[in-house]
Amino acid sequence: MKLDQAAQRLLAAWAEISDLSAVAEVLRWDQETMMPPQGLGARAAALATLAGLRHAKLADPALLEAVTTCREEAAEGSELAAQASRAWRDLVRASHLPERLMRELAEVEATGMATWQEARQKADFALYRPALEHMIRLKREQAAALAPLLAADGTLYDALLDEFEPGAREAELAPLFAELRRELAPLVRGVIDAGAPVDESVVEGVYPVERQLAFGRELATAIGFDFEAGRIDHSTHPFCTAFGPGDVRLTWRWEEGDFRPGLFGILHETGHGLYEQGLPAAWQRTPLGPAVSLGVHESQSRLWENLVGRSRGFWHFALPRLHHHLPASAGLTVETLWPALHTVRPSLIRVEADEATYNLHVAVRFDLERRLFAGELEAGDLPAAWDEAYEQALGIRPPNAALGVLQDVHWSLGAFGYFPTYTLGTLAASQLFAAAGEALGDLEAAFSRGEFLPLLGWLRDHVHTHGSRFETSELLLEATGAKLSTQPFLSYLRQTVRDVYGV
Ligand code: ZN
Repeated sequence: MKLDQAAQRLLAAWAEISDLSAVAEVLRWDQETMMPPQGLGARAAALATLAGLRHAKLADPALLEAVTTCREEAAEGSELAAQASRAWRDLVRASHLPERLMRELAEVEATGMATWQEARQKADFALYRPALEHMIRLKREQAAALAPLLAADGTLYDALLDEFEPGAREAELAPLFAELRRELAPLVRGVIDAGAPVDESVVEGVYPVERQLAFGRELATAIGFDFEAGRIDHSTHPFCTAFGPGDVRLTWRWEEGDFRPGLFGILHETGHGLYEQGLPAAWQRTPLGPAVSLGVHESQSRLWENLVGRSRGFWHFALPRLHHHLPASAGLTVETLWPALHTVRPSLIRVEADEATYNLHVAVRFDLERRLFAGELEAGDLPAAWDEAYEQALGIRPPNAALGVLQDVHWSLGAFGYFPTYTLGTLAASQLFAAAGEALGDLEAAFSRGEFLPLLGWLRDHVHTHGSRFETSELLLEATGAKLSTQPFLSYLRQTVRDVYGV
């Protein structure tokens, strides 16, 4: 096959593969936001069919031949070489996975989630256990099928990590989490021992949902989200998905008595959405079009949620708007609000955790998942192992499974190996933010004037515009001049805790 013909075939096939993914995403978005409960059976079947079609396209020998030609003959360093090498990764993975397994996984994902929801509502692990066992069996099968692709000292868990964070290794993550545990535990202990809790009652009030949404939309727009290329809807578990840079969907949920969960949820998902809207339009529906990894994705959401959204500068800009949309907040000032945005308190629920304890929640999950795929744990062991791990890491024990092992949606969706990307994203966010600050000068002063576009522009140039041309490590090195490190995050956290608690 000639090179230009091979390139054409590769790009034509990839456009269709991307379209099938986009259609599946539309169905998943709809399932979370609009679909009535009885739609579940038909939806699961439709998603399984789409997964099968996509898999068959990826496994097509003609595509393999085209990609092989491009890899061998495209000029080194050229865009085509990069497209082919990115495509190769997915093709090789797909060639090791039976289509039957991919269909079954898609179906069990859609139905398992409903079972999990009911079990969580009733705080009844036994109700969920068979579905979880089924899912773990399938994921072990998937990991075993991918084992030939692993490094010589790789683990089955590595095969699952790779789906969300290409190249991530259990052996490299373990010391990172050990370091975080070592550094965070005394920090949290210091705050507890100081015995001076932050007065969070200052944020209490009645905040009507439609006004919270108007406030959130105004801030999302201010930091650069384009509602002509996106929208926001309600869902139980907030997320962001995209069907291309021109159609980015955010979801949120709210509490009427506290504007913080709704607002920071919106800022978080907007951070994901800004990345999606900033992906290179020219590479849409090509292998280089999507985001690099979930870790890099999470760096964008955490950066806007925490490093921007919880800064004093941001609130000098946002507070008058808060007062305008939500008059019950009239008594708040930046100085009374700020500590309530940085409280440190061990808690049971990951998604409600503060910046200091959050990564301990993730460390617990990383550990349980490793042991699950090393064969040291089975589904039935998880509730007890979970409670034990929380006692050790955070000093608290869940009173029931809903506040413990049943709290996260991920395992019901087969997303084993996903959790570590939250921590990778947190670390990368601090590192990117520090580098942007060095390049752009006083960011807080800019925020207080409502100037967020210089920061967004920097992120566009150094992260968004590259699509998935570079691997995470290359991208970070290029953008920040350093490998991923815990230091920028830990120094930000120490500074914040010192300011709030004086320890
Ligand atoms: Zn996120």
